[in-house]
Amino acid sequence: MTLPSTINQFPGSTCPKTIMQKLPLLLHDNQTLTNEELTLLIQTDQFDSDLASLADSVRKKYYGIDVYLRGLIEFTNYCKNDCFYCGIRKGNNVLERYRLLEDEILSCCETGYGLGYRTFVLQGGEDPYYDDAKMIPLIANIRKHYEDCAITLSFGERPKESYRAFFEAGANRYLLRHETANETHYHQLHPPVMSGKQRQECLWNLKEIGYQVGSGFMVGSPYQTTEHLIEDLRFLQQLRPDMIGIGPFIAHHATPFHSFPNGPLRLTLRLISILRLMFPNTLIPSTTALGTIDPSGREFGLRCGANVLMPNLSPVAVRKKYELYNNKICMDEEAAECRHCLEQRVVRAGYRVVTHIGNVKPLEIDGQSTQ
Ligand code: SAM
Repeated sequence: MTLPSTINQFPGSTCPKTIMQKLPLLLHDNQTLTNEELTLLIQTDQFDSDLASLADSVRKKYYGIDVYLRGLIEFTNYCKNDCFYCGIRKGNNVLERYRLLEDEILSCCETGYGLGYRTFVLQGGEDPYYDDAKMIPLIANIRKHYEDCAITLSFGERPKESYRAFFEAGANRYLLRHETANETHYHQLHPPVMSGKQRQECLWNLKEIGYQVGSGFMVGSPYQTTEHLIEDLRFLQQLRPDMIGIGPFIAHHATPFHSFPNGPLRLTLRLISILRLMFPNTLIPSTTALGTIDPSGREFGLRCGANVLMPNLSPVAVRKKYELYNNKICMDEEAAECRHCLEQRVVRAGYRVVTHIGNVKPLEIDGQSTQ
């Protein structure tokens, strides 16, 4: 499998060629670079194959050829937020809304468990209906039935006490992309009532409580610059999350960003490789958005350093209603079909699907494990 070729768009630099050629190796050895060096890496495609092969060697050092699966349950598409990019934003009046009931969510878990998934991800819009009084017993019930599974939550910003109560009820992981670490850019993507600082605060709270935390950002979102991407990488260096999810921005027809171009495939893949080299042991999904902009996008993602896939466990009847962006894939597949299709893709890409909880491996420094 080869990556699609594109025209070399690198604009030229004052940095000597010999130093530039060493940048992927330098990143591999030091897990960081200066802003100028990162700019060079991000803006040219000439190191993509070096970055990908180094990233793959690092992922193999930590995870071999294993790919972890997370069963995704999209349990509500109600959302009180109005993010300019998102198809389930409050302002989308043409979207038919749904909520899965507790029994339906448990039935998704049962199907997923039978398919070998040992992580369930409860993802949804910021839906006030699912308050603490509903979420706490739901989480406790899933925990009671599936002691050997991780419960991952991903339904946005909540007060610290709520996060703590969910953790005490049995949740172990939380996914909350910071979206962009630059406050000005954050305000170009969200209405004024939302704040990047507040979202980052949530991530720190989640870490403090003891969750395994996932963060990340969209690639090629409107108004994004290379400087913003570097700020994202610097923020992640501070946060040190266990999981980092990135995917291309994809326009949705019923949002203010309907006419912006989709995020580029190659840049997304390059950033996956850069993330793998900067955060060697991190769990990095090859996202559905990547599979949406290119039929082999998820396979490319795995080849560039990703080691996680998130197959959909939501009932087929509601899938189309969780349309974050145009042409989202896997809308009609039953869970078992989805599992089979993904397994074949993983094998074709040269890896293997494993059935276990798939926790993050400890980082090794000078051959010594840090945990
Ligand atoms: N409400 C939760 C939250 O805020 O984290 C979880 C659901 S939210 C829809 C999940 C992620 O989808 C967001 O963090 C965002 O990065 C991504 N997303 C939303 N709209 C998108 C788009 N148009 N293109 C690509 N990704 C998108």
